Amino acid sequence: MAYYQAPLRDMRFVLNDVFQAPRRWAEMPETQEVSLDILDAILEEGAKVTQAELFVLNASGDAEGCRFDAGTVTTPKGFKKAFATLAEGGWLGLAGNPEYAGQGLPKMLTVAFEEMLYATNTSFALYPALNSGAALLLDHHASDAIKACYLPRMYTGQWLGTMCLTEPHCGTDLGLIKTRAEPMGEGTYTITGNKVWITGGEHDMVENIVHLVLAKLPDAPEGSRGISLFLVPKIKVNADGSLGERNALGCGGLEHKMGIKGSATCVMNFDGAEGVLIGKPHQGLATMFTMMNYERLSIGIQGLGLGEVAYQSAMDFARERLQSRAPSGAAAPDKPADPILVHPDVRRMALNVRAWNEGGRAFAAFVAGQLDIAKYHPDTEARRAADDMVALLTPVAKSFLTDRGFEATVEAQQIYGGSGYCVEWGAEQFVRDARIAMIYEGTNGIQAMDLVGRKLFRNGGAYVECFSELMREDLEGEVPAILTAFHQACQRELARLEDVTAWLLDQAKGRPEELGAAAADYLDLVGLVAYAWMWWKMSRAAYQGLEDRGEAGEAFYRAKLAMGHHFLARQLPRNEALERQIMAGAESMMTLDEEAFYPVG
Ligand SMILES: Cc1cc2nc3c(=O)[nH]c(=O)nc-3n(C[C@H](O)[C@H](O)[C@H](O)COP(=O)(O)OP(=O)(O)OC[C@H]3O[C@@H](n4cnc5c(N)ncnc54)[C@H](O)[C@@H]3O)c2cc1C
Repeated sequence: MAYYQAPLRDMRFVLNDVFQAPRRWAEMPETQEVSLDILDAILEEGAKVTQAELFVLNASGDAEGCRFDAGTVTTPKGFKKAFATLAEGGWLGLAGNPEYAGQGLPKMLTVAFEEMLYATNTSFALYPALNSGAALLLDHHASDAIKACYLPRMYTGQWLGTMCLTEPHCGTDLGLIKTRAEPMGEGTYTITGNKVWITGGEHDMVENIVHLVLAKLPDAPEGSRGISLFLVPKIKVNADGSLGERNALGCGGLEHKMGIKGSATCVMNFDGAEGVLIGKPHQGLATMFTMMNYERLSIGIQGLGLGEVAYQSAMDFARERLQSRAPSGAAAPDKPADPILVHPDVRRMALNVRAWNEGGRAFAAFVAGQLDIAKYHPDTEARRAADDMVALLTPVAKSFLTDRGFEATVEAQQIYGGSGYCVEWGAEQFVRDARIAMIYEGTNGIQAMDLVGRKLFRNGGAYVECFSELMREDLEGEVPAILTAFHQACQRELARLEDVTAWLLDQAKGRPEELGAAAADYLDLVGLVAYAWMWWKMSRAAYQGLEDRGEAGEAFYRAKLAMGHHFLARQLPRNEALERQIMAGAESMMTLDEEAFYPVG
């Protein structure tokens, strides 16, 4: 059986001890009301509702999946009711704009709730996650009338949003889309085309579905500069917000997938459906990025949530599983064998999973905190600097968190032995549900290309310089002996990042394939340096906790320091190999002719 209790102690540690979130929120007018009490209430109540309503449906939803019948999609038993409970409880509009009935809570707090959603039921979590991104996009780019009509209904879960980009022949290269938009006058358009793999494209949980669709206008320039964005509701909306007639669109079927089986992944057909333009003509991709950047951090948190539930479930199993004796003699001589956690190799796996999770939780909170500064800080320069940091770290958050999340679920599965492969224990579902996060929302390969291309090469490394400055500033000051190892590791790895960055920028001049060849390894290098920084922050906060609180919480803080040392000893050294891999250059990848890759009989 799977096991999960929201890691509230660790979430509080990250928010309060590491980032002193309430103090930061007090500095920004829009978030100054968010007190420690509100933080506690969201964490406590969020844990209750996700555990009680969603976790209980995770395995059954996976077994049952969604059903398609003549254009309608039925979600697994219990999803509709659980959705209504969450909607009634106000959980769908946590970060929404308060002008339109959202709650305006900072992202740094809502990511903790998102982690609980993904941990307890990833399939379910995707419906509200897409909706939050769609609402954010409308809040940024739609007219006041559209916002007033759509946002309150989306924040309260009356309607849900989707993102319709992908077509059968293109997912990454959206410049190739064939969906067409014809002007009908009075600001409306007819949308015609086929979209595939649309999450939540059709289902039975809400009365209306709000599709954000990429399409091309008749005068569109070729490629990605010719894409526009349209709002296309499943049921047309009258001027007073009431529902009108059915729009000319429908679901043509469901995909049969490896995981996230409770999430409806739909083929969507638009047959002259009526829509309105959002943002400027031909700038749909840039407009869509408001949603995609939001979703990318959210999908990163999918990896984190699944890593956490996989860890807790594996530890629940390990507690009872007795096998062999400890290397230095029986640890439980009264039992037929010792618990498997006596074995260094089992500990290695458990510690790896936990260290990735704890590092990831701090990193997600850090990126979310930068998003809050970029959105709410009264100082223009602070907002700009945070925006740069978000630009640099969004692809890292999406890829590094999902790669490590998948790795965590596989390593946690290994702890079970054969039971991990069997459905009954739940571990194999976490692996299957985590795998997709590396693929959708822009594959992790594309995230890495975004990092080395737009976020590094195009600005000559300026974002990385800002990152280095911020990290170096944070390393200043006196270092207590207990923290020396963390401090030295950060300085060493930051210097490595700077050297590798300079080398890559130089190497890639006139040789673009060098960037592509280095991309995935470079992203991992940045991710590991960022995690090293997070472990510095966490170890410093744990040390402070020990100093200030004496015995209270001592076990927690000591465990945190031990986890940090595991990260330094067993995970951070990957950077040495990554540096060598990057500096090996593109040659080994580009030598073979394309023909030589294809199998010969
Ligand atoms: C379960 C599921 C849910 C999804 N939900 C949605 C949704 O809600 N809305 C939506 O619009 N889409 C959705 N998608 C689609 C998803 O976003 C795409 O599958 C993904 O972006 C990759 O596109 P593709 O499958 O066409 O792969 P391709 O673009 O064909 O890529 C194939 C391979 O080539 C690599 N590649 C391509 N171009 C480059 C390049 N320039 N440089 C380096 N490598 C490259 C890719 O990384 C990949 O490894 C979903 C997909 C799935 C499976």
